[in-house]
Amino acid sequence: MEAEYDVAVVGAGPAGATAALVLARSGFRVALIESTRYERSRPGETLPPPARMLLARLGVWDAFSTLGSLPSHGNRSIWGGPEIAESSFIFHPYGEGWHVDRQRFDAMLASTAADAGAEVLYGMSVVDCSAPDADRWHIGLRGESGEAGTMAARAIVDATGRTARIARRLGATRQLADHLVGAAVHYAGPLREDGFTLVEAASSGWWYSAPVPPDRLVVMFMSDADIHRSLRLTEGDRWEHLLAEAPHTMERVEGCRPIAQPAFFAAVSHRLRRNGARGCWLACGDAAIGVDPLSSSGIVRAIRTGEGAGQAIGNWLLGRTDVAGAYERILDAEFEEYMAERSGYYALETRWPHSTFWNRRRTIDAAMRQQP
Ligand SMILES: Cc1cc2nc3c(=O)[nH]c(=O)nc-3n(C[C@H](O)[C@H](O)[C@H](O)COP(=O)(O)OP(=O)(O)OC[C@H]3O[C@@H](n4cnc5c(N)ncnc54)[C@H](O)[C@@H]3O)c2cc1C
Repeated sequence: MEAEYDVAVVGAGPAGATAALVLARSGFRVALIESTRYERSRPGETLPPPARMLLARLGVWDAFSTLGSLPSHGNRSIWGGPEIAESSFIFHPYGEGWHVDRQRFDAMLASTAADAGAEVLYGMSVVDCSAPDADRWHIGLRGESGEAGTMAARAIVDATGRTARIARRLGATRQLADHLVGAAVHYAGPLREDGFTLVEAASSGWWYSAPVPPDRLVVMFMSDADIHRSLRLTEGDRWEHLLAEAPHTMERVEGCRPIAQPAFFAAVSHRLRRNGARGCWLACGDAAIGVDPLSSSGIVRAIRTGEGAGQAIGNWLLGRTDVAGAYERILDAEFEEYMAERSGYYALETRWPHSTFWNRRRTIDAAMRQQP
């Protein structure tokens, strides 16, 4: 007999775990399906101060407090000129932010969803879904050793991250604003940590560095996919050579040692377009809206949209079909606002007028604004 659920939430990152938590607390039968066991490191570790309110509202603040996150006192940037600009959280109404261990953070959220009654299937990937009878999805699963399985659900939440794997199977497409990719290297050693995130612009992209609990520093170089290919940062001393262009970031890692080769992560800005795709499903988190890591808002946005998608799907199952449109309109407005902020911030950097990376930021943003 095939297992039956009200909702299958696919992906247990911050968005999916939050959607599953909200739905399980409302009494729905929820399966939360996660292809990993959080065994690999995940990109994105800085939580801005408003995260506190969000985590408290979800009732996970106490669990969060046990994770050993490091305080984030603010941001420093070298952007638009050679001077360091500092924005401290000291006067922020919610106080400081945090640098979190993403494996532990995501696992904590998923186990909170389990405590609320969601059935969490770790090490299981959703590989197929279809709805031959309009009110019931048939979902194909594959386990870590290749074993196949199936389940049925009345609704689906796609929380698979930037790939939006499920939504795209169902006919949705991504409106891409760029092809940003982050190359990340973790450093260990005598860290002189001050709890700040550092952003430093360079000729072919920008650098980001931040503490990672308990005692590491992550350094990322953000640029477009084709520029990354030509830079070949995994070869020889190319990483160190490029890093020399960013003196403040370089100073931060002085005396430390990289603990692995650069790992690459897609960081595209995009908005998912439903294209009239039918059936009871919604996307949330990066699957619905992907934002530039420059904004440090991806995790908060994932939790917020996970909460919104959970509530909307719950209402949909209770017969309120208008909620999906309302949810999508809120996300459309959010994306438009985000794109305007992103354009404004990139426009501040004018030091490399012949750089492909920086010129693209101007032309692509202008083209996006002209799209419907
Ligand atoms: C380089 C980089 C740096 C970043 N820095 C920051 C930062 O400092 N602060 C910040 O707030 N944000 C940052 N972000 C953004 C942040 O990481 C994301 O916004 C956030 O992880 C989105 O959460 P999510 O739950 O939507 O997706 P994800 O975290 O991507 O989770 C998706 C989950 O779905 C699972 N999955 C995928 N496909 C399937 C499938 N078929 N079946 C089952 N499971 C599946 C995956 O294993 C994963 O667990 C950064 C992103 C990048 C790329």
